[in-house]
Parts: sequence; C-alpha cells; structure tokens
Amino acid sequence: MKIPKRDVVKFVVKSVLSKKSAGTQQELSGLVNAELRKVDPDYSVSGKRLREIALTISEVKIEVRVRKGGTPKRCPSCSSSLKKTWDRNLRGRKVLRDLICHKCGYRGTTGRWSPSKYGFSMKK
Ligand SMILES: [Zn+2]
Repeated sequence: MKIPKRDVVKFVVKSVLSKKSAGTQQELSGLVNAELRKVDPDYSVSGKRLREIALTISEVKIEVRVRKGGTPKRCPSCSSSLKKTWDRNLRGRKVLRDLICHKCGYRGTTGRWSPSKYGFSMKK
C-alpha cells in the first residue's frame, strides 16, 4: 500500500466531485480510491485522511449530519473550536442550543451532537 501525496488527493477529490457529489464519506472514499488506483494500483487513502484533506479544499462543501450523543468540547469532525448559541428555558436558565463549526460546516443542535454522515460536493 502506498500513501498518495496531499496534492494528488486534493486533485482527485476535486475531479471526482466535479462529476458527482458524494452522499457519505464511504462513497467519496470509494470514488477517490478508484481514481487513485488508475494512477497507481497500490495507492490508498483512508476515509478520515480524505475528510481532513477535503476540509482544506476551498471549493469543496462538506455537509455534516448529526445524531444524538454527548456534548463535545471541540468540533467532533475536525477538532476546531466551536461557536455556541444559547437559549433560555422556562425557568430562565441558559441552555445550550447549537454548536457550530465554521471550519468544516459541523452544526450540532439540542442533544444531537455526534456526526453520523458526511456529504461532499463542489461549491456552486
Ligand atoms: Zn469542524
């Protein structure tokens, strides 16, 4: 197994997504690895590394879907710091409403904090 260079992965991600959006990280990984293997059959990139690289491509939009889970301190998908928004409940106490990451598009809301699916597409 060979690890392709970052720039190679970036290039392939853009070319793959310009033809077709990917609804999940697994789908993107399948499409990208298929392209990489046309260049070198030993090339392989993991889903996690792929997502980290995709985050650095300004033309790529990542949509993060969430499900129930514990409240994270930092962004669960890219480890950046999160912006919090608050609501007040009936007793006037502050309750956490949203956690928003400006880096990767993660947005958790009221108890649904865990990323479950990532969608990838080119920005219009
Ligand atoms: Zn993030």
